[in-house]
Parts: sequence; structure tokens; C-alpha cells
Amino acid sequence: MLMKAKEAADQVYEAIRTKVEDWKRQGVTPRIATILVEGDPASAYYAQAKQKIAQRIGVEFALHSFPEDVSEAELLGLIGRLNEDASVHGIMLELPLPKHLSASVIEKAISPAKDVDGVTPANKLATVTGELGLYPATPQACIKLAKHYGYKLEGKNVTLVGRGQTVGLPLFHLLQRENATVTVCHSRTPDLASHLAHAEIAFVAVGRPDTVRAEMVHSGLAIVDAGINEADDGKIVGDVSFDVREKAAALSPVPGGVGTLTTAILYENLMKAIDIHFKEGNLA
Ligand code: NAP
Repeated sequence: MLMKAKEAADQVYEAIRTKVEDWKRQGVTPRIATILVEGDPASAYYAQAKQKIAQRIGVEFALHSFPEDVSEAELLGLIGRLNEDASVHGIMLELPLPKHLSASVIEKAISPAKDVDGVTPANKLATVTGELGLYPATPQACIKLAKHYGYKLEGKNVTLVGRGQTVGLPLFHLLQRENATVTVCHSRTPDLASHLAHAEIAFVAVGRPDTVRAEMVHSGLAIVDAGINEADDGKIVGDVSFDVREKAAALSPVPGGVGTLTTAILYENLMKAIDIHFKEGNLA
């Protein structure tokens, strides 16, 4: 079975549209600001795709685009203004950045209350503790996709491949809170196949094509592939080989899987940010 994300994403967008209308009736227009430093065609493409979705769901989208040689001070200045601007509810920073800029320095400047990507230290900590916060979108998308296809996580043997800051590590914490029994594999794991052999569900977030191949999986295994890689022929592929879908019980496709749902979750986080701001007091 192919675990495509479109249906799950459409359900999220439908719920968001209703919420956006509710907020607008109360005089609040949900607004998101995206910061894009030019030079990486893929991030420009993703920013445009997010803008189109914002239009579809009634969210105002402001794209702040900078030339490749923009200074850190200039970006920090903009983030400071966006943090203060009460009409802006969410701030996203498109990655990667040019080499002279530090993503972690710039991300840390974003107000946790507007951090819809869940990249600030406060939201990373909330992901660990389960306290109120904006959790990173891709790990949430991985779990939502599995659940959408009926895979319950509680009590299940889950193998997580990758422990990166963006996907694997926060996903580990979310899986713990789902009460899964999690084995974490990484670049020093000698025999990945042995850890997939006893798993019922696997999540893969490595950043290398063909990390999981058909001979490593069994027919009862469901695999959520969070990887996004450019293959030699220019096509976008995941971390799991294409032919795995014929052997495993289920596999999420790339593209059309986790990435599709991740964008929806970013907007779900925007709604949560507005809810927290107006109903529960500011996170910052
Ligand atoms: P990352 O920080 O580079 O982490 C990669 C992880 O993979 C590390 O933990 C590394 O182990 C592990 N690894 C490397 N080679 C391995 C191997 N042969 N076997 C097992 N594990 C191995 O990556 P990331 O930022 O978390 O991103 C992971 C993937 O998700 C990338 O493809 C990225 O493009 C994709 N991604 C997708 C979305 C989306 O929306 N779908 C969003 C963000 C990222 P060590 O810890 O030992 O180095």
C-alpha cells in the first residue's frame, strides 16, 4: 500500500479554512511571514508553494526576500520587527541559508510564540516535555500520516532511522509520547536490517537515497519515509528504495508523502499559535 498524504492534508486544510473564517469573523486575519534568502532554487520553490496554499485557505502571506549577500544583522532586524508586529502570527525561515549565515543564530531570534516551524529552543524543549508549544512540523507529519492509514503507535515496536535535529530527534520524543517502543538507528548502527526485522513501523529520516532497500524489509512492515533527496537524474526521491513498496506492507511515497503533510502541519501550527496567543496567553 502507498501511504499518499493528499487526503490527510486536505482534511487538515479543511479544518484550517473553518478556523480562519472564525478568526476573521472575530476581526483577526491570520498572517504568516516567510523569510527567503535567494540562491537556493528549491527553497524559493517551497516558499512559492506555501504562498499558493495560504491563498487557498485564506491566510495572508508576506514573503520577505533577500539577496544572497544579506547580512545577519539585517535578518535579525527584520525578525525583531516581525516579533513585535501584532498582525503577524507566524514566522518561517526557509533553509538552507548561504554559508556566511548561521541558521541556528537566526532561528533563535524568532519569538517562540510565532515559531510555526518549531525551531526555537523553547519549542524544541516543549517537544521533549510535552508542554504547550509549537512542535516541529515534519515529525508531526510523520506520525499523522501513519495514523491516517490506521497504524496505531502505542505499544508498537518502532524503528527510527536518523536522529537529526530537524526530523529524527524530535520525532523520537513525539514517538515516546505516543507510547511506542522506539529503537533509534544512525550512521554508526552496524546492521540496520536487524533493527528493521523486529519493527512493525519504521520512520526513516536520513537524507540519503536507498538507505532502506527491499532486502532489508519484511512483509509486515509499514514505512514512513521523510527523506527528500535529489537523484542523479534530477528527480526527487526519499531515503527508501522504490522497490520496497512491493515487499513491505506500506510505504509513504516521495514526493506526495511526508512533505505534502508537513506544509499542512505548518499551517496547523499557525492556527495553534493564534489560539495560544488569544486564548491561553503568550508563549514568549
Ligand atoms: P540530518 O540532521 O542530516 O540527520 C541525518 C541522520 O541520518 C543522522 O542522525 C545520521 O546519523 C543518520 N544517518 C546518516 N547515514 C545513515 C545511515 N547510513 N544509516 C542510518 N542512519 C544514517 O538530517 P535531517 O535534517 O534530520 O533530515 C533528514 C531527511 O529529512 C533529509 O532527507 C531531509 O531532506 C528530510 N526532510 C524532510 C522534510 C519534509 O518536509 N519531508 C523536512 C525536513 C527534512 P548520525 O547522527 O550518526 O550522523
